Amino acid sequence: MTPPDTAVALQSRFATELPELGIPWQAAECPEPRLLVLNEPLARELGLDPAWLRTPDGVEFLTGRLVPEGAAPVAQAYAGHQFGVPVPRLGDGRALLLGEVAAADGTLQDVHLKGSGPTPFSRGGDGWAAVGPMLREFLVSEAMHALGIPTTRSLAVVATGRTVYREEGPLPGALLVRVAASHLRVGTVQYARALPQEDVLPRLVEHAIARHHPEAAADANPPLALLRSVVAAQARLVAQWLLVGFVHGVMNTDNMTLSGETIDYGPCAFVDGFDRAAVFSSIDTSGRYAYGHQPAIAQWDLARLAEALLPVLHEDPNEAVALATEAVEGFARAFGTAYTDGIRRKLGLAGDVPAETVGPLADELVTLMHREHLDHTGLFRRLGRAAAGDAGPARAVVTDRPTFDDWLARWLALGPDPAVMDATNPVYIPRNHLVEEALAAAQADDVGPLERLLDAVTRPYAERPGLERYAEGPPEDFGRYRTFCGT
Ligand code: AMP
Ligand code: MG
Repeated sequence: MTPPDTAVALQSRFATELPELGIPWQAAECPEPRLLVLNEPLARELGLDPAWLRTPDGVEFLTGRLVPEGAAPVAQAYAGHQFGVPVPRLGDGRALLLGEVAAADGTLQDVHLKGSGPTPFSRGGDGWAAVGPMLREFLVSEAMHALGIPTTRSLAVVATGRTVYREEGPLPGALLVRVAASHLRVGTVQYARALPQEDVLPRLVEHAIARHHPEAAADANPPLALLRSVVAAQARLVAQWLLVGFVHGVMNTDNMTLSGETIDYGPCAFVDGFDRAAVFSSIDTSGRYAYGHQPAIAQWDLARLAEALLPVLHEDPNEAVALATEAVEGFARAFGTAYTDGIRRKLGLAGDVPAETVGPLADELVTLMHREHLDHTGLFRRLGRAAAGDAGPARAVVTDRPTFDDWLARWLALGPDPAVMDATNPVYIPRNHLVEEALAAAQADDVGPLERLLDAVTRPYAERPGLERYAEGPPEDFGRYRTFCGT
């Protein structure tokens, strides 16, 4: 067994460079820790030995109780607009940044615990998390990564042996070990901006540039270049969400990263039958975070980031506002380009088909999908088979629709490439009914269904025999799907 001090080397860059944005803290003791899932490939990418992580010392490390030398765990401070309402102090109410690890690819990655106990930011919350929501985040975040979508990763879920109390009653507790390019959020910048110490904001900007957008350091106006980079990264991210039918569900400014990674898998879900107005979260009663609103909401959140950055954008406040406005307005073009590029690949269309053709053709398809509530994931795979010469499956999902036949003919005339489509359109996504089934089994101590679903969705493109049921839509009686924040 490797001794703990050499098994993990954690840095404390955030804690030492930005002490105003964290409170030194320790994870609570776990009565009976039990490793439920370990992401071995990710562990290796981080230079962590999976065999050691499975030892009692390894599990102590994963629960934050064995703190490697050099690490300085902190509960991070941040603010945020929640459903449009500003909250000046949110912070990690049930989470901790253990420190940063240098990954095999040279980047620094945060190692973070969610569900590690109360902190000074807990407000009304208990500081704990339940097994179900933590496994859900593990599953969906790893599926997103496999789909090529920037996201926080999941290293492990550890059952704590503690009982947590939620609306549905007593539940088994757990914590998630999350890995991210960083946990800097739009809300982190909002918090720094509101501090009386005026030097924190520029120091945060410098830290964010170094970690995520190093090219901005060479710009004539580095904070502006950072803002532009975040706008571009978020535009690309939200385009990718739309292209796979993902609804984040709680795009508050504290849940938007500066890195451009998807974060916070509370109430998220994938659409089965396509609907631009799809909302799953039980608390999103107004549909603020509906599928089709996500680009507009992302831009709104980025406007809050730009506002928070005003003092470092330009010494003249009017100039600062002009620069900020222009940067945020850049979202529309960046989103449009990313979305059109993505839908071009989903439709297997070559680069020489002009964007003026791809755009309207895609819009027509989306309108049809919306009107007929076609299965988003299933339809694109069927279109791939049509491109390969078998139009039957595609036509079968929209029988008696002359408009669809007309669309199909015009699209096929453009010579779509089935190989590109097969490599772009997933067969297996974490469909809601499958996720629920896997979590219910896991809570009854059978992690088999979860492991099988994880295997399907982490290799989403290659159709594999025996996995047919993972490619199918929900059963007729599944009904309307509701998600909860898991707090
Ligand atoms: P979220 O909805 O997960 O983005 O969380 C919003 C805020 O509530 C963050 O500050 C969280 O740390 C905090 N929070 C969520 N659940 C809990 C909990 N069970 N105990 C304490 N704080 C929580
Ligand atoms: Mg959050």
